Amino acid sequence: MGPLADRQLDVVVVGAGFSGMYLLHRLRQLGFSTQVYEAGSDVGGTWYWNRYPGARCDIESMDYSYSFDPELEQEWEWTERYSTQPEILAYANHVADRLDLRAEIQFDTRVTSAVFDEATARWSVSTDQGETVSAQFVVMAVGCLSTTKQPEVPGVDTFAGPTYHTGRWPHEGVDFTGQRVGVIGTGSSGIQSIPLIAEQAAHLTVFQRTPNFSMPAKNAPLDAAFVRQRKATYRQHREEAKHSPVGVLLDIPEELAVEADPAEREARFHEGWEAGFLFGVSRTYGDLLLDPAANELASEFVRGRIRDIVDDPAVAEALSPRNHPFGTKRPCLDTGYYATFNRENVTLIDLHASPIVEITPAGVQTSDREVELDVLVFATGFDAMTGPILGVDIVGRDGQPLREKWSAGPRTYLGLATAGFPNLFTVTGPGSPSVLSNMMVSIEQHVDWITDCLVALREQGASTIEATVAAEDGWVEHVNEVASMTLMPQANSWYMGANVPGKPRVFMPYVGGVGLYRELCATVAEKNYDGFETLASLARGLAHSACRPAAGATGPSGLRAT
Ligand SMILES: Cc1cc2nc3c(=O)[nH]c(=O)nc-3n(C[C@H](O)[C@H](O)[C@H](O)COP(=O)(O)OP(=O)(O)OC[C@H]3O[C@@H](n4cnc5c(N)ncnc54)[C@H](O)[C@@H]3O)c2cc1C
Repeated sequence: MGPLADRQLDVVVVGAGFSGMYLLHRLRQLGFSTQVYEAGSDVGGTWYWNRYPGARCDIESMDYSYSFDPELEQEWEWTERYSTQPEILAYANHVADRLDLRAEIQFDTRVTSAVFDEATARWSVSTDQGETVSAQFVVMAVGCLSTTKQPEVPGVDTFAGPTYHTGRWPHEGVDFTGQRVGVIGTGSSGIQSIPLIAEQAAHLTVFQRTPNFSMPAKNAPLDAAFVRQRKATYRQHREEAKHSPVGVLLDIPEELAVEADPAEREARFHEGWEAGFLFGVSRTYGDLLLDPAANELASEFVRGRIRDIVDDPAVAEALSPRNHPFGTKRPCLDTGYYATFNRENVTLIDLHASPIVEITPAGVQTSDREVELDVLVFATGFDAMTGPILGVDIVGRDGQPLREKWSAGPRTYLGLATAGFPNLFTVTGPGSPSVLSNMMVSIEQHVDWITDCLVALREQGASTIEATVAAEDGWVEHVNEVASMTLMPQANSWYMGANVPGKPRVFMPYVGGVGLYRELCATVAEKNYDGFETLASLARGLAHSACRPAAGATGPSGLRAT
């Protein structure tokens, strides 16, 4: 191998979470020379970084796992319904070993820029280790939730004690014994970690800006008979999940909550609550995410459960979400979250009533008190979906930075590609179902689609593929239209970019469902990549200027065929 700067690759993959790992496996099988870069020191992505106490999946493990390798799914034994972070990370390591993936992954290496050279139709990819390589294709497998977000509070850096972000948890763990701990943030990571931190800490103060709806996970060891039965029917189960709305099997009744008999409705909501399932209550009726009146019935049901569990009515009320419809922010699954607020050593501070003024060396100063702390935990989440992609300085055709193109919000075709950036793909990018689904299903679908596309290009002797502006416009319009038919855009959620100051408010994931979305993507491929422009290697220069679509040149579907 020559100097690194001279390396010519077919594909650079950025990220070695579940997306990058499966991509590498497929690309290698298909004979593409590939280099994966990963900022972390090992595989696993989300499960490498998020080692906070209580971290576990909230899609059942037997669904939240790869389906591409039938032997793997037979051989691997999940021990709990919702596996812990260490077990999921062990699974990622097992897959990396089994498929011998690490040889083509360069760890501790962050990709800093990717610049498209129109003359050679190749990407020049640079890393923080001072390397630059040339690749025909770049696939951003950077994850939706890998760029952590710090709290926007003055004085964060002045705190005298240690601070930890749930998304960058120390590998050796943290011992909170005898400590006065503050947790800022009550999203999924806060809700999972707070009960366990409370068990250890001398005192825990939870600083809550927005209460979230959470339901009991009802986690338990997996029953051997259930596992045997699932493994016997795994293929069929996976196939059905792939074509379902969210990538797990669900029965969504068509009945409307607003028309149901109140006693029956209450009983069905209870069943949903007791199911210990992320979509337990939200999928009990067909209208909960569509009709505000129906949603309020479910919201009030959950608030009722909070009042049942929490002894102090004022604390129960502070924990009860009232500023967004149920299910329009990512719902959470917990183990003992609300009951934690009955503990003597736990205090809830409602930041709407008394906002944080500043973090001081001694603790947190709110508008009405100073809370002295030894340790601060930031469960403040992520700059979701666009953060990790725009963390790389990506420059496309005509020297256009992606950050500039997406300054008013992300614009993609199918969440897979963006016009003006040939041969660049995003796995679970904005505009695809991604975070609204079982991500494993969405990841596999994207990886299969992208790798099939590369094979098709190779067979056709095409050197570039690029989404047309018209196809992208049509898709963005469709994504917005479908979202606006639901209550989803009504919440100030990270789906909307609302948790990051200054970030454009655009509903980023595609609400149409993974089954429908899969069909749309398949149709695009079957129609020889409808809505994309592909250029043959030899005719590149000529074809480029001749084939670029006039703005607004749409076909009947709003997509431009090539
Ligand atoms: C706490 C938590 C719990 C979750 N639970 C579930 C669940 O139960 N079910 C579900 O469906 N989804 C869940 N998710 C979503 C989860 O992110 C996905 O399921 C999945 O793990 C994403 O895999 P990925 O490979 O696409 O991205 P990630 O796992 O995020 O991996 C991306 C990798 O890219 C690397 N990277 C990013 N930028 C660069 C760069 N510039 N250079 C080099 N490397 C880079 C990162 O270091 C990271 O390791 C959860 C997320 C979190 C944070």
